[in-house]
Amino acid sequence: MSKANIDDDLRTLVLFIETYCRGKHQSPKGALCQECRELLAYSESRRKKCPLDPKPTCNDCKIHCYGNIQRAKIREVMAYSGRRLLLRGRVDLLWHFFKHG
Ligand SMILES: [Zn+2]
Repeated sequence: MSKANIDDDLRTLVLFIETYCRGKHQSPKGALCQECRELLAYSESRRKKCPLDPKPTCNDCKIHCYGNIQRAKIREVMAYSGRRLLLRGRVDLLWHFFKHG
């Protein structure tokens, strides 16, 4: 995946987390609660830190960086917002950055 796609992915991540936060945490449009801000920051660093293309399975990956709690949260966010935004294909595309670990 090329560098340009990282920006695309991050925009999608922001969109997903905003959608989730608005729906689940009643945050105003464009704002995120503390929890979701942290999740976004974590997800961004996770996405940016992955220099490997294609991403290897985590057993082969030197970067064991995604905790179980965050992984469970991002999974929930993606499931929730993916349904709402009808971006199922996009979810599957993004999810492979998060599913290992
Ligand atoms: Zn939130």
